[in-house]
Amino acid sequence: MPARSVAPLRILITAGPTREYIDPVRYISNDSSGKMGFAIATAAAKAGHIVTIIAGPVALSTPPGVRRIDVISAADMLRACQREWRRHDVLIASAAVADYTPATPFRTKKKKTAADLVLRLKSTPDILATLSAAKKPGQTVIGFALEDRNVRKNAEGKLAKKGLDAIVLNRPTAIGADHSQIEILVRGEAWRTLAPADKSRHAAKLVRLVQRISAARRPRVR
Ligand code: C5P
Repeated sequence: MPARSVAPLRILITAGPTREYIDPVRYISNDSSGKMGFAIATAAAKAGHIVTIIAGPVALSTPPGVRRIDVISAADMLRACQREWRRHDVLIASAAVADYTPATPFRTKKKKTAADLVLRLKSTPDILATLSAAKKPGQTVIGFALEDRNVRKNAEGKLAKKGLDAIVLNRPTAIGADHSQIEILVRGEAWRTLAPADKSRHAAKLVRLVQRISAARRPRVR
């Protein structure tokens, strides 16, 4: 039995990139290994929580005790999240969702020609903002921000705009790495900078933070 001193939470995690197909073999995506989301899922399950991970295409094995739902596109990820959200207490959105998807993907493989190809892209749905807007009393929503300039200001903007309880800020150097430097802002509190560490160590700290935030937001949904 895992060591735990708090009531188990039902934690929903999004992880990895999404893939937006241009034709049956070509796609647009984001650079993301999914390691941070999988590290959080591992730490949360070890702490005795009930964990569902909704993962884009990643080359990672499912952490012990974690329920996994694989998806491809942002639209798939949104659908899966909307099905699951009402049965969870916490959402941790670590996925690097593609911001755009081809407006009219080709049904068959696009043949190469000498002419330039112009693709029209449309915005993908914001999964985190959509779920946050549907948040019930007792539910907690945590987002990530990967920023390379005006980092804290941009993250603060996302926390406010998406109605988050906390946001985790990291940098492009975290992509694909086993370690990272993160800063965390809990709504109404001051920024905290965590010393550079392995993603698994950050994940364990994040799970403790989630427990603290969640404990302040009773009653939990059923
Ligand atoms: O892309 P952006 O910087 O706005 O992402 C910040 C947060 O929003 C991340 O937690 C990410 O997982 C989430 N997000 C999402 N759906 C999108 C874009 C971002 O859930 N379409």
